[in-house]
Amino acid sequence: MAYTHTPEKTFSAPLRQSSISECLRCKRCFMFRHRWGLVPKSMSVPTAATRGRIIHAVLSFPVTPEGDKALTDWKAGTTAALEKLIAETGDPLGTLADQIAHFENTFAVAAMFRSLMAEKFAPPSYMQTLCTEEPVSFTFTSPELQAANVPVFTLSSRLDRLVLDTRPDSRSVWVRDFKTTERDPVQTLTGYAYSIQCRLYRMAAEAYLASCPLPDGAADVTGFILDVLRLPSITLSAADRDFKVVNKTLKSGPRKGETVAEKIYYGEPKLANYINRCAEWYDNNQYDAIQSYPIRYIGGALDKEFLSVLYTAHRYMNIEEPISANFPRDLTRSYCVNYGRVCDYYGLCSSDEAAWPSLIETRYTVVDPNTADAELYDVHHSIQ
Ligand code: SF4
Repeated sequence: MAYTHTPEKTFSAPLRQSSISECLRCKRCFMFRHRWGLVPKSMSVPTAATRGRIIHAVLSFPVTPEGDKALTDWKAGTTAALEKLIAETGDPLGTLADQIAHFENTFAVAAMFRSLMAEKFAPPSYMQTLCTEEPVSFTFTSPELQAANVPVFTLSSRLDRLVLDTRPDSRSVWVRDFKTTERDPVQTLTGYAYSIQCRLYRMAAEAYLASCPLPDGAADVTGFILDVLRLPSITLSAADRDFKVVNKTLKSGPRKGETVAEKIYYGEPKLANYINRCAEWYDNNQYDAIQSYPIRYIGGALDKEFLSVLYTAHRYMNIEEPISANFPRDLTRSYCVNYGRVCDYYGLCSSDEAAWPSLIETRYTVVDPNTADAELYDVHHSIQ
């Protein structure tokens, strides 16, 4: 059977980290996500999309009374949006209810890191923040691209934080971002210096500085500071309620007559108690909650290796016929189960194309990758 199904609408968008990465891993996934704009309906509330995104959002609120108030409102708004969706759809599979639980748990972890960062990792006074969560879109070209008849193409990225070391003897600009992990940070750091994200952020930082020159003189983009946040394996639970200690005399057993102290819990679990319990958990396990690693850039921003990666992604983003015959599946299957979750498009990949229109209709919504919303559905924002 010929592979020819094409949706009514297909897209072509500036390359982002997620689209470049997906193009390298699985062309078919890239097609569904970035050329057809398919997003699973279960991800229809963007803030519930990923743990990394929730933590990024929570950390973006300043630790001030105003920031605390805005964060409380944001949390209430997000929960209300999910509850509204449950009321509207009936949530037959319980996936949205799961998302609320996931959101509550992740919010508690994020709030713990927010408090810890403010308390122990406040940036030194000589570090000046130039921008946070800054969307940067930029074009570039090279002799190699021109020789391949691609005069110019567009990339887009979001700089989590750009900081300037203002000390006169070390004046330099650093990209700063964090990753959450449950594993040894070594696994997060391995290969990070040559990753797509590290390189793309460098190009975005240089583009940002070109469009917003520093008022007191230029500074080079020197490197990347990666904060690795080690996730605790404990979640907000009944153990985080307030308690009072009462003495109780044992009435039976070998210790009969002995008086022991007993905790009587009451009320709802409290974030402050969870934060204290996490501090104990880190101590007991001898883990650092946050570790910062500076990675100095070596060589130019754009070498032949990265250029060929960008060119490949650009080519697939612009193939005129975005049909499955032109976008092979990942035959190694290594991307079909990724970070412990089955690919969002597995149902399509493993069924006959004749069934695609109805599958798409029931399971996916279409989000134009050119809109700001599309970024909210990226699943690779955070290295797990
Ligand atoms: S299921 Fe596997 S082959 Fe199919 S789109 Fe996903 S990653 Fe690609």
